[in-house]
Amino acid sequence: MSSIDMPLTANLTAPYVAYAYSYPHKSSYGELTPAVSLDELWQQENRRNLFLYVHLPFCEMRCGFCNLFARAGGDDATYDLYLDSVERQARRMSAATVGDRSVARLALGGGTPTVLSAAQLDRLFQMLVRYFDADPRQIPMSVESSPKTASQEKLDLLRQWGVERVSIGVQSFVESEVHSIGRPQQSAEVHGALSRIKQAGFPVLNIDLIYGQPQQTLASWNESLDAALRYKPEEIFLYPLYVRPQTGLGRRDIPLESDPPQTIELYRAGRDRLLAAGYRQLSMRSFTLKSETDDEGPEYCCQSDGMLGLGAGARSYATRLHYSSRFAVQAAGVKTILDQWVTRTEEDFGKADWGIWLTEEERQRRFIIQSLLHYKGLQRQRFIEAFGLTPETRIPELRELIDADWIEQDDDVLRLTSEGMAMSDAIGPALYSASCREALEAFAAK
Ligand code: SF4
Repeated sequence: MSSIDMPLTANLTAPYVAYAYSYPHKSSYGELTPAVSLDELWQQENRRNLFLYVHLPFCEMRCGFCNLFARAGGDDATYDLYLDSVERQARRMSAATVGDRSVARLALGGGTPTVLSAAQLDRLFQMLVRYFDADPRQIPMSVESSPKTASQEKLDLLRQWGVERVSIGVQSFVESEVHSIGRPQQSAEVHGALSRIKQAGFPVLNIDLIYGQPQQTLASWNESLDAALRYKPEEIFLYPLYVRPQTGLGRRDIPLESDPPQTIELYRAGRDRLLAAGYRQLSMRSFTLKSETDDEGPEYCCQSDGMLGLGAGARSYATRLHYSSRFAVQAAGVKTILDQWVTRTEEDFGKADWGIWLTEEERQRRFIIQSLLHYKGLQRQRFIEAFGLTPETRIPELRELIDADWIEQDDDVLRLTSEGMAMSDAIGPALYSASCREALEAFAAK
């Protein structure tokens, strides 16, 4: 029996199935025939409060666990060529979204955007202002970085441009541990980068850590948590380690258990450590020192506001269509897609040819999953107002989750319990439609 045919709670025995950070998962995307005119699409959308995301798919190395759209290596010429393409796309998307448009959030992700030179990053910031009137000095912006590439010169530039949040992937402060997951990182470099970021005075520093690593013990996990806490980061993300077949770790001769039994214990230890240190938990992965009233800048609502993605691998979300370029994990596939992507003309960027049309059912599932996995939970009345039916009518199995104490009802809100939150990576995928779950299972097995 495939997991698709089982009752929902029977699928909740293993806590780590997939990170449901966006629905539908990219594994459900396919050829759009005919290709969709982005002028027509975006002119029919509400273009206020957009999230503008730029994907830089380059890293100084490829981590053994990484299944993102990214490649190692590259030089200034490679990055310039890529930025030329991003600029053609930005110009085209600026025209497609012209009119009553505003940007509420900005992000540079990847990959590692800070592999670009300071001059190239500056060019990118200028593009955001020129084509979208999106100035990081006025709109909250997040930039991902790495210990090796967070140089003083680049951090100074990010500060000058008003970047609010710098996120750095540390994964572990224990050198042997991080080497064992295929990331040849030096601790001295990590501490150097963190000190520079702190000194630069960004309003938000985020540190990413990974638990469930093969050599990790409770003691070494606590060592990493304590080392991170010494920098008083405003945010910390705790990621479980996934070993996917197409990644460097997945292709190693030595088989690695992708969900060792102690992983959830490490999660609980990490969660409790951060809560005791004064952090609030926003989702299974996300912890913040900010209070609920600290949020500044225009409001962005991930359930209803649009997202505009620039760059190869970036996804864009309109109300009924999600689209992107094609996707690959292994180096050869990524290279082929990138080689083709940098030859795209402005006219090519006016059409979407890869993505998924969202049915009403998928839109409703998206709303439920995105809301439920966040600490604020799912407001029943908001759902009813948006779709004219109750969440339980769309997904009757929500009742099973309530009976199993994974969800609690508080007035009008359905919210994950603490243990429900710990099971987010099982609950999210269990709420997928049958076709999206099938696509995810096929993708995860690759
Ligand atoms: S995990 Fe991050 S730094 Fe490592 S290869 Fe993937 S995108 Fe690059």
